[in-house]
Amino acid sequence: EKGIRIEGLSKRYGKGDTAVDALKHVDMQVAPGEVVGLIGPSGSGKSTLLKCLGAVINPSAGRMILGDQVIFDDGWKVRDLRALRRDKIGYVFQAPYLIPFLDVTDNVALLPMLRGMPNGEARARALELLTALDVQHRARSMPSKLSGGEQQRVAIARGLVNQPPVILADEPTAALDSERAMAVIKILNDMACKFETAIIVVTHDEKIIPTFKRIYHIRDGVTHEEMGEGRGFE
Ligand code: ADP
Ligand code: ADP
Repeated sequence: EKGIRIEGLSKRYGKGDTAVDALKHVDMQVAPGEVVGLIGPSGSGKSTLLKCLGAVINPSAGRMILGDQVIFDDGWKVRDLRALRRDKIGYVFQAPYLIPFLDVTDNVALLPMLRGMPNGEARARALELLTALDVQHRARSMPSKLSGGEQQRVAIARGLVNQPPVILADEPTAALDSERAMAVIKILNDMACKFETAIIVVTHDEKIIPTFKRIYHIRDGVTHEEMGEGRGFE
């Protein structure tokens, strides 16, 4: 059983008069193989939701189930959160955060290497993703030599390389032109399909919003689900 589900997730920052309820009883489920959009204005709770889903912060209440594992149930239940973050969740952040002293290939290959994959195999897998993202010509470059869009694509490759069951992507196409944005969406859809990944994409990008079959809108910490145009990426 794969995919991710949250039930009644709430997050309150602070206490008393100054408390902020950033998430109010949010329900969400993403099936294996599904790519859903998460859309909302600034301050609506998107980052807080991603941080809870990514096991970076703990919610104030609610449940999260990843595959057949209960991650939290009104409190942390998982002993090894580091292993959860490393093995189960792929992150694609807005700012690429590439490691400056490793070349592009090793930036992508590092995670599988740390998990014990032989270096050659990890690099081959990295190169395969870099090729799919049309940035293979930069494979031996250092991150500082790359344009913002190229760095973004390398960061996407890094988020996908371990083939985690869940991928959280925060504005993955913001720095990219139309064609490259669509290439990224195609890769996310292919990944979802091939590896039964559940993918959540936070975005404002009008270019990619019509590709989602299902969208969660968030406003003031409350989510509403909506069927998207689901045109896909053809
Ligand atoms: P978004 O990502 O949609 O901009 P956030 O999740 O960052 O929204 O913020 C949701 C609400 O929670 C906002 O009112 C924000 O000011 C508040 N908030 C976010 N992080 C914190 C924090 N660490 N401490 C206090 N309030 C926070
Ligand atoms: P984003 O575009 O990622 O939502 P924000 O400016 O909303 O950026 O938040 C940046 C960081 O500051 C986040 O980690 C968020 O949790 C934190 N933050 C946001 N609002 C507040 C707040 N009112 N008090 C403390 N921290 C906050």
